[in-house]
Amino acid sequence: MTLTCRALLTAAAARLADAGVESPRVDAELLLAHALVVPRTRLLTLDEVGDEAIARFEALLALRADRVPLQHLTGRAPFRYLELAVGPGVFVPRPETEQLVGWALQQVAGIAEPVVVDLGSGSGAIALSIAHEHPGARVTAVERDPGAVEWTRHNARTRAATGDPPVEVLSGDMTDGGLLRELDGTVDLVVSNPPYVPDGARVPREVADHDPPLALWGGPDGLDVVRGLLVTAARLLRPGGALGIEHADQQGESLPAVVRAHGSFTDVDDHPDLAGRPRYTTARRV
Ligand code: GLN
Repeated sequence: MTLTCRALLTAAAARLADAGVESPRVDAELLLAHALVVPRTRLLTLDEVGDEAIARFEALLALRADRVPLQHLTGRAPFRYLELAVGPGVFVPRPETEQLVGWALQQVAGIAEPVVVDLGSGSGAIALSIAHEHPGARVTAVERDPGAVEWTRHNARTRAATGDPPVEVLSGDMTDGGLLRELDGTVDLVVSNPPYVPDGARVPREVADHDPPLALWGGPDGLDVVRGLLVTAARLLRPGGALGIEHADQQGESLPAVVRAHGSFTDVDDHPDLAGRPRYTTARRV
């Protein structure tokens, strides 16, 4: 039996909506395109879908309805100009992090070979985007989760093979006082999307069941890891060096306050994301 693309998508979107998926139509389209091994735009001009593709699509839909992240099913996550490989064991990069990277690139735009450190790199989205968009940057990506760092390395190898400047991947903890000692006082930019979700906060099933816990949970107020991060950033940054840290919607005041209280930073600002929600704090090393 063949079915029209339209009928398949209408039924699939309804099923995903019933399952509580946030963007059911887009997800249905991306999964059908994935099952057909065609770009999403091809769906517009496609009429009938054959049995085998329908079977593949149904299997993907069942998993998505069970709230497996879309990006784990396609194996890909778009981020700025890149497409990263993702799957079980690594945090799926989010669109709201893209602006932090835009800010980060502005900070080093005037430096020919800026030294950049991405703390808690996961898929490598931030580090690899900076290397891609500022080819002179000397970027180090740090990741403590042994499962996640395999993905960091994988994506770094893939990007380097396409001609991007190599990013150094380091297996390590951003709160470790011995981390990257050789860079002390020389770093132009430290950027991080650290684990910041307050313990016990409600997160969607895709996040709770599939993103690695080490990438999410940040203690009672969500800022435990950030406090350690600040010590490391203060040590690594040169005077005037820039710091950018993503945070949760509710941390638009608490995170800047923690950065100010630390004492090593000035020009502490907070920035909203495209949805207008407080999303990242920036500062400069005194
Ligand atoms: N923004 C992520 C979420 O929605 C959390 C990311 C993090 O803790 N770094 O779950």
